[in-house]
Amino acid sequence: MNIVNAKNEFPILSQKINGKDLVYLDNSATSQKPQVVIDSIVDYYTNYNSNVHRGIHTLAEKATEKYEEVRQKVADFINAKSVNEIIFTKGTTESLNFLASSLGKNFQKDDEIILTEMEHHSNIVPWQFIAKEKGLIIKYIEVKPDGTLDIENLESLINKKTKIISLIHVSNVLGTINPVEKIIKRAKLINPDIIAIVDIAQSVPHMKVNVQKIKADFVVFSAHKMLGPTGVGVLWGKYDLLEKLHPFLGGGSMIASVTKEKTLFAEIPQRFEAGTPNIAGVIGFGTAIDYINKIGIDEINSHEQHLTKYAMEQIKQLDFIEIYGPNERAGIISFNIKGVHSHDVSAVLDNNGIAVRSGHHCTDILHNKLNINSTVRASFYLYNNENDVEQLVLGLKKVNKIFK
Ligand SMILES: *Cc1c(COP(=O)(O)O)cnc(C)c1O
Repeated sequence: MNIVNAKNEFPILSQKINGKDLVYLDNSATSQKPQVVIDSIVDYYTNYNSNVHRGIHTLAEKATEKYEEVRQKVADFINAKSVNEIIFTKGTTESLNFLASSLGKNFQKDDEIILTEMEHHSNIVPWQFIAKEKGLIIKYIEVKPDGTLDIENLESLINKKTKIISLIHVSNVLGTINPVEKIIKRAKLINPDIIAIVDIAQSVPHMKVNVQKIKADFVVFSAHKMLGPTGVGVLWGKYDLLEKLHPFLGGGSMIASVTKEKTLFAEIPQRFEAGTPNIAGVIGFGTAIDYINKIGIDEINSHEQHLTKYAMEQIKQLDFIEIYGPNERAGIISFNIKGVHSHDVSAVLDNNGIAVRSGHHCTDILHNKLNINSTVRASFYLYNNENDVEQLVLGLKKVNKIFK
């Protein structure tokens, strides 16, 4: 498979938007799906739709086998120690709510949680829920004006009451690649009992993430940002920590036995997958991982690095634009055209067939810190090419002309 021709394998990308060839640069919000992923979902519903883990008939056995194969693919993709450490959820958001609510059960008043100022709302709001309920303290690692984390005084934030450090690997706004391994090591040096959670929603689709190497205890991510369907996510956790976790949802499939008085839970991972899961979605996700593996995650990463440098060079030459975040970054560029609201920028770009995101990208705290109301965000994936970058730059020049 050739990355140069990848665009042809994504049927949605061949259409025209407002009479122009679609240039899709909203990959941080969600990625497009290659034909093989769409086909595998259709194949499931056409040929072996059945519930998993229950039936003893041919279709149910095939559905279960295909579903469980994906668990192994995910484990291999992130280098988990065991397939039983992979829990399917409905997305990063659900995975984080699960962690906050289950881990939080054991916390005492004045226990502390460390987040960063660049977290996605899904890694803030669930912690605020549990903090309010239990009287916990949330502390934030600050973001410096250059868009990197201020970790010089990290040690001053951590003490014996710190229970959790939960942080984003790659910023979905600034593209900042945080030194998570270093941060976790330093935090655990002060307090080895800290549980480290890493939100890899924006890193794992674009770069090799090895959960053991980064010293995480849990990671969370979403299938839809890595060529898979919506409504499927992952919670990975070290097995001994999963064993201590109270289930988030109760119901069918997650039990060993139920009496009027009490329930014995099923083994892990079933224990954490109550009810009928998104079977078609998980199967499509497996095909997405196969697709990424065929091209190679390192190949994808260097392609995106090349496009990002190419785009940064050209956008920097436009004196009407302000770019946020560090030079060294993942394939995400957020910026503003001076004096023009981000919604107006994206509306004019859309007239030219270019899809970008505008707004606060679920990061109010970060936008407040940087003293900006909103930003325009262009984000790349493997199917983007230099022509997409050139169209974006032309589009930005048009916007500036209109609003000057
Ligand atoms: C998209 C995103 C989320 C939320 O993911 P959902 O799929 O909407 O649950 C959380 N964190 C980061 C960094 C994201 O980019």
